[in-house]
Amino acid sequence: MSLVETAIGCPTAVEGGGVADVDALDAMFALPFSDLLLRAHHVHRAHHAPNAVQLSTLLSIKTGGCPEDCGYCPQAARYHTGVDATQLMAVNQGLFLCALQQ
Ligand code: SF4
Repeated sequence: MSLVETAIGCPTAVEGGGVADVDALDAMFALPFSDLLLRAHHVHRAHHAPNAVQLSTLLSIKTGGCPEDCGYCPQAARYHTGVDATQLMAVNQGLFLCALQQ
């Protein structure tokens, strides 16, 4: 089994309805890192404005105090993170703050 087949756990990769050429993927995996990075730049430039950077802002509409315990998540109430829990933000307040960011 090739490196790619091992990585994906099956002999073929299906993306967009097509079957990937595993040999081509293996060849790509074998590329030196800088060559792979160059290819990634070409793909990015083919599909996006090359020097545009999307800026995003995260807004926490509720911080901490979650009654669930997903084990890994510091939002769970059982963790003591030193950050004060907040109530769920009012819809109008969230919409207002989102509008300010646009
Ligand atoms: S991921 Fe975190 S915030 Fe979401 S339900 Fe689990 S503990 Fe709560």
